[in-house]
Amino acid sequence: MTKSERVNLYDLPQKQLEEALGAIVSPPFRIKQIVEWMHVHGVDTFDAMTNLPKELRAALAARFTIAFPQVIERTTPAADGSRKYLFQLADGNRIEAVYMPMGDRTSVCLSSQAGCAVGCTFCVTGFFGAGRNLTPSEMIGQFFTIQHEHAVPMEMMNVVFMGMGEPLLNFEHLVTTLDMLYRNIAPKRVTVSTAGIIPGIDDLANLPRRPNLAVSINAPDRRRREEIMPITKKYPLDDLIASLKRYPSEKGREITIEYVLLSGYNDSHLDAVALARLLHGLRVKVNAIPFNEDPNLPPWMKRPKEGSIDRFVDTLVRNGVAVTVRRSKGREIAAACGQLRGKDVAKSRATR
Ligand code: SF4
Repeated sequence: MTKSERVNLYDLPQKQLEEALGAIVSPPFRIKQIVEWMHVHGVDTFDAMTNLPKELRAALAARFTIAFPQVIERTTPAADGSRKYLFQLADGNRIEAVYMPMGDRTSVCLSSQAGCAVGCTFCVTGFFGAGRNLTPSEMIGQFFTIQHEHAVPMEMMNVVFMGMGEPLLNFEHLVTTLDMLYRNIAPKRVTVSTAGIIPGIDDLANLPRRPNLAVSINAPDRRRREEIMPITKKYPLDDLIASLKRYPSEKGREITIEYVLLSGYNDSHLDAVALARLLHGLRVKVNAIPFNEDPNLPPWMKRPKEGSIDRFVDTLVRNGVAVTVRRSKGREIAAACGQLRGKDVAKSRATR
């Protein structure tokens, strides 16, 4: 069997994984051991499964793989310790993930697609266009690679699907990945961020174990949201808000509303008032994200001045909306969606 013909066991949901292993593994307790090596310890070679007999490890390796994507670049850590990773997939696609230490917590931001067809105009991944869905092994591989490299205790880990791609357009693989993550991490420490794919939000609402939901809103009215997030034409803003109203609310958990602040476009006092009105009646907190400028994006898109950011935040607070500002986490390392891969693509185009 060639390397590409071997099934990657990390791509299989639990039941199928046990069935696939059952065909060659016995006694049954060995299956449990293998699943534990994978989902709890995140190993990427069968040789690391040291409590299995050598012959069994060889038999597994002849039939299956448990490989992860390869890291091909790490940025130097930013002042806040955050670090970006560029991974190469088996088919040559490149994706990125971010490590963000935050005192007693560490967040890892994962990609879900090798590009994105949603086309938000403020996003470098959107600028470079569509890419295929990532497999569960490619998503969980980003997580374990970074967690191992920094030896972060699992109880400190948080995961956000906020990297390249729209996770709710890769729903089946996302759910398989979430189930693997939940072996180590409670659902309330996992966040899925969407551009507002309403059927996906409804599917997420029906999961027995729901992650936190984050929704990228970015404009307080339909006209401007359509301009910078064309997906609004398919899933109108009012319908999106209605889907958030029916999303099950759990104790101590609120929906995060992401709002990229663009100077002179959506950052005025009146915009904050309109946003507060739009969100009225929802249990949400706003995460205001001052725009990260990038040469691939329209030159009119600028990061607001600190004073405008403060004014916008104050207005939201005065209107009863909880808000945090993602000031500059990883700004130096191009932490916004797709910027490192964008640099990589631009570099390879320039050398052609
Ligand atoms: S912001 Fe997210 S959904 Fe929008 S284009 Fe970028 S990756 Fe896609």
